[in-house]
Amino acid sequence: MYTSSLMGRSSSVSSNRLFQFEVVGLNPGSTANMNCSVRRSGSVFMTVPYSRMNQEMKRIARLGGKIVNIVPLNADTPSRKESVWEPAPIPSPASSTPGTEGKVHKKSEDQKIPINIYRPKDPYIGKCLSNEKLVAEGGSGIVQHLTFDLSEGDLKYVEGQSIGIIPPGTDDKGKPHKLRLYSIASTRHGDEEEDKTVSLCVRQLEYKHPETEETVYGVCSTYLCNLEPGADVAITGPVGKEMLLPDDEEATVIMMGTGTGIAPFRAYLWRMFKEKHEDYNFRGFAWLFFGIPYSQNILYREELEKIQQEHPDHFRLTYAISREQKNPEGGKMYIQDRIKENADELWELIQKPNTHTYICGLKGMEGGIDEGMSAAAGKFDVDWKDYQKKLKKEHRWHVETY
Ligand SMILES: Cc1cc2nc3c(=O)[nH]c(=O)nc-3n(C[C@H](O)[C@H](O)[C@H](O)COP(=O)(O)OP(=O)(O)OC[C@H]3O[C@@H](n4cnc5c(N)ncnc54)[C@H](O)[C@@H]3O)c2cc1C
Repeated sequence: MYTSSLMGRSSSVSSNRLFQFEVVGLNPGSTANMNCSVRRSGSVFMTVPYSRMNQEMKRIARLGGKIVNIVPLNADTPSRKESVWEPAPIPSPASSTPGTEGKVHKKSEDQKIPINIYRPKDPYIGKCLSNEKLVAEGGSGIVQHLTFDLSEGDLKYVEGQSIGIIPPGTDDKGKPHKLRLYSIASTRHGDEEEDKTVSLCVRQLEYKHPETEETVYGVCSTYLCNLEPGADVAITGPVGKEMLLPDDEEATVIMMGTGTGIAPFRAYLWRMFKEKHEDYNFRGFAWLFFGIPYSQNILYREELEKIQQEHPDHFRLTYAISREQKNPEGGKMYIQDRIKENADELWELIQKPNTHTYICGLKGMEGGIDEGMSAAAGKFDVDWKDYQKKLKKEHRWHVETY
């Protein structure tokens, strides 16, 4: 199982900060002695001081519960019930300034966006360094975190781009397989911060053939998910300018992703909070809405929650766990339900000229996002379609679905 390199880093969060845990699946009766409120949806909301977070997490796990959302409750960040959003203050050096640890990356970074350094006719042949599973026991499907060595070539990329992978062998017409694109899940510096690797987050495609009912496995995703460390991989690219991060260090970055749609967001969050750069010191606000079927499918969970704990004024994490959580109507909890739930704050944020919204994941998710945003805009008598056009024109609405 993929483990976090963030764990064990010292925390700069003051010990008197309060957090609200949303917990599902607690054993019946176990909530009697807890400082919490139980909702009709089955979710239990608990207020926990930072100093007791670890103990409470362990206690919840012992009682069969799963934490599905953690929201900071403090003077700077309004709780989910409050409707007015004040932008996060620029932190003093003593507070939880993002990126205060890790290596320093210098200004010499090439500001130009690299495109198609390697083309399909002459791909870069990289080695697979690691291939680790991301779905915990009991979750649905196979999703792997893969890292490839780039040290022998010139492949450079920036956060939000994709690379192509050419699977070996031929298709049913005897022709070499075409490349498949995958969003890059690492920052330009790679997981080791040596500027020598690229990482992907790949789900094995598996579906029932509509006529024969046979199980079909995708060619490239199956190849990647089963790749052994040490194996050669044909890589093309990078490509893509749609999902690039703004240079503005005080921007608000709203991310809405399902499943492997987390890949570019992992890269953004690493750049914002994990790495240290001379020319990029994120002081804005990032909010990730992450939709998955089960809590075991929360990819990179440990690391996401660690960032949330360490940077509560700058990062907010909201899960929509469709098979475990219920929306207010008693149906499955999808991203659009979380958007509606947070409509007032989201609407306030989206109107700020330095707010960028990113959507990534399966194609079907856009309809739901529009539904949620229409409801949010409708509360303020605004036509969402018109407003979305304006955001697109201003290059503040970024979509990559597949
Ligand atoms: C910009 C971009 C970024 C992407 N990023 C990622 C990423 O980060 N992670 C990731 O895992 N994937 C990502 N993808 C998807 C990826 O490129 C591949 O499409 C995916 O891995 C499937 O490829 P495959 O070779 O395994 O499947 P293939 O063997 O090519 O099979 C795919 C084909 O199967 C058929 N098919 C699929 N589902 C069904 C169904 N339910 N019923 C009937 N037929 C079906 C369709 O004809 C489809 O074209 C991205 C795609 C794009 C365009």
